[in-house]
Amino acid sequence: MNVLSGSAAERMDWRWQYGNRLSRPEHLAELAGGNSNLLDEWRRVAQIYPFAITPYYASLIDPTDRDDPIRRQCLPDIRELSDIHTGQDDPLEEDLHTMVPGLIRRYPDRCLTLATNRCAVYCRHCNRKRFWMQGSRRFSRAYFQEMIDQVAQNPFLREVIVSGGDPLLLPAATLDWFLGSMTAIPHVEILRVGSRIPVVMPMRINKELVAVLKKYRPLWFNTQFNHPREITPEAAQACDLLLTAGIPVSNQAVLLRGVNDDPETLGELFYGLQRISVRPYYLFSCDPVKGVDHFRVDIRHGMEMMEQLWQRASGLCLPRFVLDAPGEHGKIPLQHFSMQREVDMREVEISLTENGKYIKTHPLFQ
Ligand code: SF4
Repeated sequence: MNVLSGSAAERMDWRWQYGNRLSRPEHLAELAGGNSNLLDEWRRVAQIYPFAITPYYASLIDPTDRDDPIRRQCLPDIRELSDIHTGQDDPLEEDLHTMVPGLIRRYPDRCLTLATNRCAVYCRHCNRKRFWMQGSRRFSRAYFQEMIDQVAQNPFLREVIVSGGDPLLLPAATLDWFLGSMTAIPHVEILRVGSRIPVVMPMRINKELVAVLKKYRPLWFNTQFNHPREITPEAAQACDLLLTAGIPVSNQAVLLRGVNDDPETLGELFYGLQRISVRPYYLFSCDPVKGVDHFRVDIRHGMEMMEQLWQRASGLCLPRFVLDAPGEHGKIPLQHFSMQREVDMREVEISLTENGKYIKTHPLFQ
C-alpha cells in the first residue's frame, strides 16, 4: 500500500485530499519509514485524540527522520497521554465566554465563531483538542442563525472572526451565506477568517472559494505556518490567490519544541513568509493545553530567540511574540530583553514557573 498514491490531477483536487486522509494507525507505518513498532502507541493515543493527515501534508514528512518537524505536528505521540495530567482542556476559558453555542466573546468589540469542529489535519499542538472528542459534526442552519442573531443584537461587535475547526471545510455555499449574513449586520465592519488550509491542504484555496471570500472584503485571513518547509509552491500559490483578490494574509505561528524552537528555523520561517508576501503577525507561546505539554517552550528561551532575530532581521518580517492569556486578558506581549528595561520586570518573573511556563495563578489571570 502506498498511502501517498494518487494521480497528479487527484493530488491537486482538495476533495481527493480530504477523502484520502490518513486516519488509521496502519497508515502511519509508511510515513514512519516502514516502522510499525509504534502501532500500539498510535492506537492508544488515537482513542483519546484522533488523527487525520492529508496526503499532501504527509508528503512533506521525511520518513527517515523520527524527529521530523512536520511529523511532530501531525503524527500521534504517546506523550499526549501523559500530558493529559498537566494542562487544561480549555486554557483560554472559551467555554466560559460562550454567548450561544459556537460564539465566543472575550473582548468588547469582536467575537469568535466556531463554524465547524472539523479540520483537514488534526495538529497535535491544537488548543481546541477538546473539540476532537466530539467526533466530526455537521452544524445545522439553526446553529449558524443563532450566532448571526446574537451578533445582530450586540451593537458593539464590529469584528467577527470565523474559525473552528477549519471554516474552509464548509461548503462554499454555506460559507457564502454565513459571511454574507454577518456583513449584512450594519455594525459589523470587519470579517476575519482563521484557517490552516493554506498549510495543510492548499488546493482547497481555488478560484470558486476565493470569489466567495472576495465578496466580503474587508476580510482578513490568518493562517498558521510553523516551519519553513511548509512554505511549498502549492502553499505559496494558495496565499497568492488570496492576496491578488485583495485579501491580506497574516501568519500566527506557534512556538513549538522540536519544530521551530531555534533562531535559525524561526528566521527562515519569517523570511520565507515575507518572500510569499504573508505577514508574520504573531508568534504564540504554546498554550497549557491537555495533551500538548511536550510542545511547550520556556518563555525565556522564546524571548532570547526573538532578541537575537531582532538584532539581525528586518522589523518587517518579525512577528510579535505573545502569550494568549485566559478570558478577556488577551494577548500579553513578551518583549525581548533589551526592551524589557522599559517594563516591570517583576510582572514578567512572576508569570513564569521554574521551567519557564506561565501558570494560571498569576495575578494577571485572576
Ligand atoms: S487546523 Fe487549527 S483548529 Fe484544526 S487542529 Fe489545526 S490548529 Fe487546531
